Amino acid sequence: MVQRYASARVTPLTHSSPRFSVRGLAPQDPELAGYPDDLSSSTFRVIERAKQEWEATADALPELICLVDARGLIIRANRTIETWNLGRVVAVKDLSLHRLLHPACTGAACELERGLRQIRLSASAGQSAQFEMWDALLRRHLLVNARLVASGRGLSPSATVIVIQDVTERKRAEEALRLSAERLRAMNDIQQAILAAHSPEGIAEAALTRMLRLVPFRHARVTLYDPDLNEFFVVAADANGGARLRPGQSYREDVFQSCDGREPRAFYAIEDLGKLANVSAVEEQLLSDGLRAYFNIPLIAEREFIGSLAIGADRPGWFTAEHIEIGREIADLLAIATRQAQLYGKLKRANQDLGAALQAKEEMIQAVSHELRTPLIIIKGYVDLLSEGMLGALNQEQVDAMAALDTHANRLTTLVNQVLTLKEIETTRLSKMTIDPAAWLGEVVRAWSLLIERGGLRISLEVSPNLPSLLADPNLLNQVMYNLLGNAVKFSPHGGAITIRAWATRQEFVLAIADCGIGIPSDKLELIFERFYRIHTGLNTAFGGLGIGLTLCRAIVSAHGGRMWAESVGEGQGSTFYVALPVEAAEQTRPSAG
Ligand code: ADP
Repeated sequence: MVQRYASARVTPLTHSSPRFSVRGLAPQDPELAGYPDDLSSSTFRVIERAKQEWEATADALPELICLVDARGLIIRANRTIETWNLGRVVAVKDLSLHRLLHPACTGAACELERGLRQIRLSASAGQSAQFEMWDALLRRHLLVNARLVASGRGLSPSATVIVIQDVTERKRAEEALRLSAERLRAMNDIQQAILAAHSPEGIAEAALTRMLRLVPFRHARVTLYDPDLNEFFVVAADANGGARLRPGQSYREDVFQSCDGREPRAFYAIEDLGKLANVSAVEEQLLSDGLRAYFNIPLIAEREFIGSLAIGADRPGWFTAEHIEIGREIADLLAIATRQAQLYGKLKRANQDLGAALQAKEEMIQAVSHELRTPLIIIKGYVDLLSEGMLGALNQEQVDAMAALDTHANRLTTLVNQVLTLKEIETTRLSKMTIDPAAWLGEVVRAWSLLIERGGLRISLEVSPNLPSLLADPNLLNQVMYNLLGNAVKFSPHGGAITIRAWATRQEFVLAIADCGIGIPSDKLELIFERFYRIHTGLNTAFGGLGIGLTLCRAIVSAHGGRMWAESVGEGQGSTFYVALPVEAAEQTRPSAG
């Protein structure tokens, strides 16, 4: 309550008041004690003017300034007190400052009185003092400063100037600043916690537990909507929502709907649940849990409704506009993070499904290849027997048919072996031995020359002198050469040339197989090493193949600690395949033929 001051209580404090005016005093007046007897009236006028100027200056200040004696009684005060809504103050002399400010206060437990007493004590010890307080009677925040007046100015000893500043506005601004910093900090905390959580449940839980710092509630709940089931699921809630509003519970939409159109998809705030004429089933539950004030904010992600955040308190009208604003900010964060977590969850499940499908495909390829191996051996065996006439003489047509059968059985065998080798490389140890690269490559060229010439192609070999010997698995290295030369022949036109070059750097032994064939587009140079990848696919392609050869080559080279890549100037301009094996895999000493 603001203290009211009776204006009739004291006599007017005016400049013409005889108690405060120099003018009108007789020279024998005790107030003039110490002045010379022969002061002329013009001297009085000068003094009076100076006094009025000072009073006018002091009255214009926003601070309450007063001079008090050792007992704390006012000697002089400016008029600022009148602007503090205290009514008209008419006389202050010999009034205590506390009485002036709190006329009806007994002073027993008054903080202002205590502070002013402390000032008197400090003054008696010759010290200045200061204190700050919220004055509930004046409804102002006061900053009180007391300074001793230097003696020797004709004033009583221990006279003190007390300056009281009204710092309410400054304090209010400071408090607003503190609150907004606190809100920012808390929002930041919520954001961090939400980002650290990965499931919609974790996100909602993180938001609710931290929200309490900013919005004092009794019940808060995050409900997510499942459009497939057309149901709402409570994903997080504090313990005050009653059993029916706990996490894990689900509802159909109609339990939220009231006759007044309140529903989870729209924002609404209720001052007092108890005063509603029509309540929904959920509101009825909230009421029975003792909740009165309540608001609901829909969670919207990418313009889609995904759920709602509901907050309740047990006192009607409890929530302020600021609480609702904070609720909205948190709802925005929740919506974005929840949507991301939902998408992440979907992606993870899809990834797991894909992983399982790939695994199944892998296992099937392995199983089929394995199962094909034995029948292929048998087919090949009978083809050999038949071709050699061991099962009776064949006519020319039958001989040709057997030759075709043999070629295709060989292709199938190669394929099956490649698939199985690819798997084996991951698990089996390499059978390494020392290989003389020049001798090995010479043998490779000899073995391929007939086939290459039959295809109307030429092959040449360029080997640098003094190459270090290789420490490698010869079967696997032969497999690499088989695939690379096979491709070079397959993708080269009639009359083209194939070149094999070998050289060594300080770190690597390098092998390049170049052809003048159809070339490879630059964006496919890496893709061709992926399993089952082929540039020219489809039934109409002139080139057969399964797209496993280069994958196997790279796997073999990698198993030797080396690297493999392809280069091509472009389509129709030929390709070069490089194999680089580390010199650790090469032995500098005694080379021997592989
Ligand atoms: P395949 O030859 O059985 O299809 P590879 O893994 O050996 O399988 O090769 C994959 C693809 O890389 C080939 O289908 C082809 O498109 C391309 N390719 C490989 N070698 C060459 C080459 N020398 N010239 C042009 N393209 C090639």
